[in-house]
Amino acid sequence: METEATFPVTQTRNSRIHEVDFDHLEFGKYVSDHMLVCDYAKGGWEQAEIVPYGNLTMSPSTLALHYGQTVFEGMKAFRMADGRINIFRLERHYERFVRSLNRMCMAILPKEVFMEGLMQLVELDKAWVPTQPGSALYLRPFMYASESRFGVKVSDEYRYIVFTGPVPSLYVNPIKVKVETHYARAAKGGTGFAKCGGNYGGAFLPTKDARDHGYDQVLWTDSATNSFIEESGMMNVMFVINGVLVTPALSDSILGGITRESLLILATEMGLRSEERPVSVSELEKAFQAGTITEAFGAGTAAVVAPINTIHINGIDYSLQGYTPENILYKLKAKLDAIRAGTEADVHGWNYIIG
Ligand SMILES: *Cc1c(COP(=O)(O)O)cnc(C)c1O
Repeated sequence: METEATFPVTQTRNSRIHEVDFDHLEFGKYVSDHMLVCDYAKGGWEQAEIVPYGNLTMSPSTLALHYGQTVFEGMKAFRMADGRINIFRLERHYERFVRSLNRMCMAILPKEVFMEGLMQLVELDKAWVPTQPGSALYLRPFMYASESRFGVKVSDEYRYIVFTGPVPSLYVNPIKVKVETHYARAAKGGTGFAKCGGNYGGAFLPTKDARDHGYDQVLWTDSATNSFIEESGMMNVMFVINGVLVTPALSDSILGGITRESLLILATEMGLRSEERPVSVSELEKAFQAGTITEAFGAGTAAVVAPINTIHINGIDYSLQGYTPENILYKLKAKLDAIRAGTEADVHGWNYIIG
């Protein structure tokens, strides 16, 4: 895709790129030189602009700080094997952003501001896209209610911002998860399918509790009966049971991950059977007892796959054998990585290539 300079740019005079130790990146530590900002007021979007990354000033009565109208996306731009850069599944992220904005009663960002804005911003800060295998430029588009006015109301003003930052390859050691039967992340009719800030805020305490008990993450169950698996931490969750890739079917309490969707498509292409359906806690328990479950993993942009080696169910820690590169989760990850690196054909048009 051609990128044209659609939006006006004010270039920084003091690039901070020399401060970055690209051999020792840490997730969330470095932010690239520029950000894109676009404001919504009086019923319309103003001109989007790219400006040097910097602090915001805001009124203490800014509505987002009180009533939580905030939505974000998390995606990555990759350095391909031939040196070009691509943003993975950009349009799909826009579609989800719109679903989240609708649920939070926020103004809808025009598609070209999202798509062209990200392409132009990454092009401008392309020196920040790391080259180390597995590393990437993390992209964080988000929007918040920027009107300053106290009193509960739907905001009439919004600010959309995108900033980016280089992140390392995230290799995750197998994690221990605990089936959560007290707290809920999301309820039927709630905001679970939207990528809104409050879903994260509400998950911190249950996650801290799980950590205090020696687990890395919570395996969320449905809020009504606590008997069906929903997600693993802030990732979708997948299992291999009887050789079949199984994942909970999407609902309004499960966030539709783009990694989840991509892995399901790749599984089919690899000749693997997959099922999207309710997965009950008791099915998992029985699968452990019968030895028919062979893999469990989280799926999300940050790590692609996060293997799970222990699942705590009703007072018992069930374990999975050590993972090897022969496991399905790593084969799926390898295929996804190859498409993003351009070493395998991108037959689905998932890569949005910059320059
Ligand atoms: C972002 C997110 C995911 C993963 O989505 P990807 O598009 O694959 O990164 C899964 N669950 C929750 C709750 C999330 O916020």
